Amino acid sequence: MTSPEIASHTPLPDHAPLPLRRGLELLHDPRFNKGTAFTTKERNALGLRGLLPPGVFDEQAQLARNIQTLRRKDTDFERYQVLSALAERNQTLFYRLLCQHITELMPIVYTPTVGEACQRYGYYFQRTRGLFISAEDRGHVREALHNWPERDVRVIVVTDGSRILGLGDLGAHGMGIPVGKLTLYTACAGVPPHQCLPITLDVGCDNDALREDPLYVGLRRRRVRGPEYDALLEEFIVAVREVYPRALVQFEDFANDVAFDLLQRYRDQICCFNDDIQGTAAVTVAGVLASLQLTQRRLAEQRLLFVGAGEAGIGIADLFVAMLGEFGVPADVARQQCWFVDRKGLVTAERADLNHHKRRYAHASPGPAADLLSAVELLRPTALIGVSGQPQAIKQPVIEAMARMQERPIVFALSNPTSKAECTAEQAYAWSSGRAVFASGSPFQPCTVDGRRFTPGQGNNAWIFPGVGLGVLATGSRRVTEEMFIAAARTLAREVRQEDLDFGSVYPPLERIRDVSVRIAVAVAEVAFAKGLASVERPRDLSGWVRAHVWEPRYPTYA
Ligand code: NAD
Repeated sequence: MTSPEIASHTPLPDHAPLPLRRGLELLHDPRFNKGTAFTTKERNALGLRGLLPPGVFDEQAQLARNIQTLRRKDTDFERYQVLSALAERNQTLFYRLLCQHITELMPIVYTPTVGEACQRYGYYFQRTRGLFISAEDRGHVREALHNWPERDVRVIVVTDGSRILGLGDLGAHGMGIPVGKLTLYTACAGVPPHQCLPITLDVGCDNDALREDPLYVGLRRRRVRGPEYDALLEEFIVAVREVYPRALVQFEDFANDVAFDLLQRYRDQICCFNDDIQGTAAVTVAGVLASLQLTQRRLAEQRLLFVGAGEAGIGIADLFVAMLGEFGVPADVARQQCWFVDRKGLVTAERADLNHHKRRYAHASPGPAADLLSAVELLRPTALIGVSGQPQAIKQPVIEAMARMQERPIVFALSNPTSKAECTAEQAYAWSSGRAVFASGSPFQPCTVDGRRFTPGQGNNAWIFPGVGLGVLATGSRRVTEEMFIAAARTLAREVRQEDLDFGSVYPPLERIRDVSVRIAVAVAEVAFAKGLASVERPRDLSGWVRAHVWEPRYPTYA
């Protein structure tokens, strides 16, 4: 017998209900608009006569026209604007186009172009694609959430704009990030777009130049901090629980002075996670796991040296430690295999300036390490992981030293956008005589070094969060746990094939992301059931159940 809980989670056979609107109103509703693909019969039935040019085009013709329009543009930022306009006009076509050309378009809807879009948000802002909640909305946050037109919100991505990619404080202009991330939830894992809600908490901006820009759209004040900030966050979380009780909350691009604390405070209270900490961790650990096939070493043999000791680095180390724990390695032993260099040098127990997140990785100094090169020579890491936001922080002598010490040195330059990467793919291959196992955060084009062709993999968090979200959504999981990220990392690493490794990629090609995300969702769903977190009965066919939640961008037939 089906429980009421299951019945309420059962997806509708077609996610698009029949349109309530007609005529111009229908053409202005991106959920139902088909543009020139409305058939003559539909045009007659829905009051569209005269409102469209007479030509009727099928979806394939529309897709071809749109991709040509995009390719004719001069810059990626122009392409971003064209795609945003399409999303606001015709959601189905937008997602169809994105899914069909994911490798080409992901760098436009997300990093690196989204970084530029945030920086220029005030110049092109026309209408909101998400909700702004400001420090002046204290006492009215619930009302703001109610103003959003959708009631069945299942995934919220929220930022306070304080650390956008590696670009720093962009205040209210950070809205591009939650919009972009939720676009990827739909494109990569089929989370229905109407269940996604992007939110920017505008608590001010400490970037003086931006705040004083006449076109800045946010509050013109410095950031609210301390108790006032905490109170707004608390009001927000309480309101979300009340207005959207089934929503998963993804914290995104919060500066690290609050990110760890927010996660700590809310992870056991609501269904939430922090993508910069946990999503990054899972995608990077997956990359390291896949690299082992090339390095012929075990995970427990890895010695990681992180360039950067912020959210990303600490998150990756924590997941690495948790994963070694599953192999029986005690946490204090596993932590000894993780070393960090931050802006002030090697993180060691002797330093007095460390916050408590770094402190657990502050080991006794192995000797004087004035710079990254001496740290590498002292520690002999198997992997160097760049998460500093500092372009060119990994220089030629460092990679040459790694290549002297390791047959296949792992070098991940994860800082975003591309301009911030610690080294380029070509540099890593050239300086290691083609032996580096390289991955980046933002995409690098394939390159040829010493006559060998390399297609570097992208350790994009998009490999993780959409699948985790789908798994949580399909099971109604009450929490997001570390085990779910371990399961996601393992699943992703298993999906890397020999032909990917042959070209130097430790991630699958992006064309497979929808399929891989669903597999990750199934693995996450397994954890939700195993840990008693699901709010639905376990279906006999778990994979089929998860797949049934996947939204496909398909035009409905109205007449
Ligand atoms: P963060 O601000 O929390 O941390 C940055 C760290 O880098 C700090 O510890 C800082 O001291 C250190 N640092 C600064 N300059 C340095 C230098 N010259 N040498 C060594 N360390 C230095 O930022 P974060 O959230 O950890 O993100 C860092 C970078 O990682 C960003 O560029 C971000 O885009 C990128 N990132 C990539 C992915 C991905 O590719 N999947 C995911 C998340 C973050």
